[in-house]
Amino acid sequence: MPQSGPSAIAAAERGFSWQRELAAAVRDAGELRSLLGLPDEPVPRAAGSFPLLVPRGFVRRMRRGDPLDPLLLQVLPTAAEDVVVGGFTADPLLEQEAVAAPGLVRKYAGRALLLATSACAVNCRYCFRREFPYVESGVTRAGVSAALDAIAADATLHEVILSGGDPLLLDDDRLAELVGRLEAIPHLARLRIHTRLPVVLPERVTDGLVSTLRRTRLAGVIVVHANHPAEIDDMVAAGIRRLAAAGVILLNQSVLLAGVNDSAGTLAELSERLVQIGVVPYYLHLLDRVRGVAHFEVAEREARGLIAELRRRLPGYAVPRLAREVPGEAAKVWIS
Ligand SMILES: *Cc1c(COP(=O)(O)O)cnc(C)c1O
Ligand code: SF4
Repeated sequence: MPQSGPSAIAAAERGFSWQRELAAAVRDAGELRSLLGLPDEPVPRAAGSFPLLVPRGFVRRMRRGDPLDPLLLQVLPTAAEDVVVGGFTADPLLEQEAVAAPGLVRKYAGRALLLATSACAVNCRYCFRREFPYVESGVTRAGVSAALDAIAADATLHEVILSGGDPLLLDDDRLAELVGRLEAIPHLARLRIHTRLPVVLPERVTDGLVSTLRRTRLAGVIVVHANHPAEIDDMVAAGIRRLAAAGVILLNQSVLLAGVNDSAGTLAELSERLVQIGVVPYYLHLLDRVRGVAHFEVAEREARGLIAELRRRLPGYAVPRLAREVPGEAAKVWIS
């Protein structure tokens, strides 16, 4: 019998509202500036190929009138992106060489990335996949099928990492179908999801998603992506609580970004907030040197100093691993 009453209505509402929220996301720099009470400025060239995209709920967590707000800096295209800096290239991680099958990036033992979709709910200016050729790499429905065949044919794989783009942009039905096909592959033990949606669009944590995670025989790990404590509000905390109730392990990865989170105080507060809502800090990534992001880079020596300070301030489990991806290595390189 269908449920009724306020909680069922709230759940159904959650199921649809994330798509409405996404459709209504801000896509225009002038509008974003005016929402925040900031003066208009010319839009840089780089915004043409990698446009501004940010959900309104994330904008509401920014400080009005502050052009240096750490959330704003992550999403607003600036003239700095058009500056050419040596060493910053289209594919610094040589990911395209690691495409094992359409949509499947295989670099490390036992696990592989399945690029389930090319779209995100937010375009992060520092993103290392901002120039990734998703279509050429087979990130399409047909590509996902070929990737599943390649996973099924390789018994050394025990974990599939859904990535993208943001895999939680697949709707509940498509996600349930994908998980169903993965759990039918006997050598898979774990399903990991790398997603920024529980942070930037917490409405995405629907009952359908939670029930897919709860029902699967695969051990679930969700790695969310928050860079600054101001990203974590009550809505985010509530979504995380629903995910935790599905019995998954919850981790966070951040990117160390100049002007956003390059202080021990900010990073310590981020870790404390994460732990408070039930998420363990996992990685703090040094920036990948993709074209247009040089202004976000923090030097490795400074990064080591920040981690040393975090170790003085926080319990060990709340200190993320400082890591860098080096093409050709057997794993991400831990720096601290
Ligand atoms: C980062 C990454 C992983 C996951 O690495 P972990 O250290 O297990 O988190 C897996 N495959 C690829 C290609 C990656 O870039
Ligand atoms: S959500 Fe992740 S993949 Fe998407 S733009 Fe941001 S960093 Fe890149």
